[in-house]
Amino acid sequence: MSLRFPEDEAVLPWLSMLLDAYDITNENVRTVMEKDIQSGLSVACSSGCGMCCSCEPIPLTSLELSGIIWFIRRKMYLGPRQRIEESIKRFSGKVGCPMLIDEKCSIYPMRPIACRHFNVYERTCEPGEEVMDTRPEHVLKPDHDKAQAAYRAMLPYYGITDPKLQEAALQQNYLFKNCSVFMHMVDWDALLVHFTVAD
Ligand code: SF4
Ligand code: SF4
Repeated sequence: MSLRFPEDEAVLPWLSMLLDAYDITNENVRTVMEKDIQSGLSVACSSGCGMCCSCEPIPLTSLELSGIIWFIRRKMYLGPRQRIEESIKRFSGKVGCPMLIDEKCSIYPMRPIACRHFNVYERTCEPGEEVMDTRPEHVLKPDHDKAQAAYRAMLPYYGITDPKLQEAALQQNYLFKNCSVFMHMVDWDALLVHFTVAD
């Protein structure tokens, strides 16, 4: 389901780029998942199973990070926001993601593309299991062209608007190499101030 914020998007063009990318990604994942289910696979991921969020390195672009901060500041009530702040203060910073609270994603509508792509079939992951190594046949494989289309939707945020330059950027994995961090490496403590300060 598409999640849009028309009033906010009217004044924040970057938010539209990000939500376009998420819409494309959601459609990509949904289509592939439907086909996989039709072929007999069952989805193992569910709310409450968040091992991947606590022990995997999760990449995100700076645009996706801006989306998370905006969402926490503008769309979350005080209680949930305080729980995120407490989670950040407890977070070891070694791996995983401080947005995982009680084994659920606290910023689910604004989770990054990497989180949307990563889906596992048949049975939940074992602690420490590298599913891509142990059973790659049980990992959802997003459609490559649609995945690229999602990343293309974000490129204007980084000043890359020319179609040829966009194609080159995608080929060179520009976003991952130049504009991304891992969730556990974000300086969340330094960002806490932005959760409550008005624009
Ligand atoms: S990827 Fe594995 S650990 Fe993560 S939600 Fe799915 S089954 Fe659970
Ligand atoms: S943003 Fe949400 S889904 Fe992604 S790693 Fe963090 S808790 Fe998990």
